[in-house]
Amino acid sequence: MTDSNNVDVVIIGAGPSGILMSHLLGRRGISHVVLERETAGWNWLTLWDGFRMNTLNWMNRLPGSPEFAPRQDRNAMALKRDAVRWFEDYLKSVRPPLHEHTEVTHVAPSIAGWQVVTSEGNWSARAVVICTGISRDAIVPKMAETLPSSVCQLTSRQYKNPAQIETSNVLVVGSGASGSQICWDLCKDKKRFAQIYLAGSDVKILPHHVLGIPTLNIMEKIGMLTVSRDSFLGSRMYKKFLSHERGQPTPSPGPKQLAAEYGVTVVGRVESVQGAKLYTTGEAVPTDDLTIVWATGCRTDYSFIDLPDGLETNGQPRHHRGAAENAPGLFFLGLKFQHAANSHTLMGIGPDGEYLAEQIAIHVGQRN
Ligand SMILES: Cc1cc2nc3c(=O)[nH]c(=O)nc-3n(C[C@H](O)[C@H](O)[C@H](O)COP(=O)(O)OP(=O)(O)OC[C@H]3O[C@@H](n4cnc5c(N)ncnc54)[C@H](O)[C@@H]3O)c2cc1C
Repeated sequence: MTDSNNVDVVIIGAGPSGILMSHLLGRRGISHVVLERETAGWNWLTLWDGFRMNTLNWMNRLPGSPEFAPRQDRNAMALKRDAVRWFEDYLKSVRPPLHEHTEVTHVAPSIAGWQVVTSEGNWSARAVVICTGISRDAIVPKMAETLPSSVCQLTSRQYKNPAQIETSNVLVVGSGASGSQICWDLCKDKKRFAQIYLAGSDVKILPHHVLGIPTLNIMEKIGMLTVSRDSFLGSRMYKKFLSHERGQPTPSPGPKQLAAEYGVTVVGRVESVQGAKLYTTGEAVPTDDLTIVWATGCRTDYSFIDLPDGLETNGQPRHHRGAAENAPGLFFLGLKFQHAANSHTLMGIGPDGEYLAEQIAIHVGQRN
């Protein structure tokens, strides 16, 4: 292990939040580094090939970023290639002091502020910003271990495209935004499969349009996207949003539409495996010649940080607008409902980042 390098701020994670934070600190002349365990934008770049954004083009913006999908309708939902192009252009314009393939393994308070231990040496900083995202590791239910070894299993993070699936039947477990979209992606190459199943609980569907107006535009107009968790409505939404049960509505097409338009067999919640069948709250699914794509959510992992107050029951760090409680100099960006309902999206991390950059400038004594 090498001696510590000194810097004002260490940013951990080089997704959109980390790059934004680098832009905001750079603008204020605050010295910093961005440490990334893979390569910049890894979580975006490794999504399935046919991924389509859940937000409209006009919503995908960050301070200092180029326009998102500039030649497309501002109310359209762009594809992965557009998101990747936009992110790469943003990265080029910010030119962050980036250290890729550098995994942060421990963050702890020190005399100078914070000590950051990484796979490539240590850093000492007055402040640390955790930008490690909300989708680090896929959650797979324990039941997966009881399936016959002949069943192929993938997570939503490992799924790339229909050609990757070699069996005649495929079951997507999870009818949230990722599960429904992966099922839709499989349907586009439907001829490959004898049967496509989608398992999950009843989900609320967010229609694209209401009376010809994009639903997200209506939600923006009435303040639903930016409602803060300090407000009466926001505090109720916050609790619902972070409980994993029916937390967020799924953008269409949802299960009913996939069944009607593509002949997908919608089954209930997966419950148990017995013999050659997977039992659900609805129809049972034969495990013969089957691939399962687990789209059952992702978890964050903050075990590498010495958090004096631990985590809340919902797995979130204790913080106020991203500033950790009882841990001066420790900040988070990109958390679910960090401040507002859209805090975990591109539209939300901009305002949250601006607020935090100001707090960080005060903390390191570089406020203009
Ligand atoms: C399937 C899916 C669909 C989404 N769709 C939309 C959408 O349509 N619109 C929208 O606005 N948002 C969407 N989001 C949310 C999206 O994640 C955020 O908008 C955006 O990616 C926020 O980025 P981030 O930088 O906070 O996190 P991420 O993009 O997740 O980046 C985190 C980075 O931290 C790195 N990292 C993690 N741990 C460590 C460590 N210990 N050491 C070093 N580096 C580490 C990771 O490798 C990664 O590169 C979606 C998310 C998912 C998962």
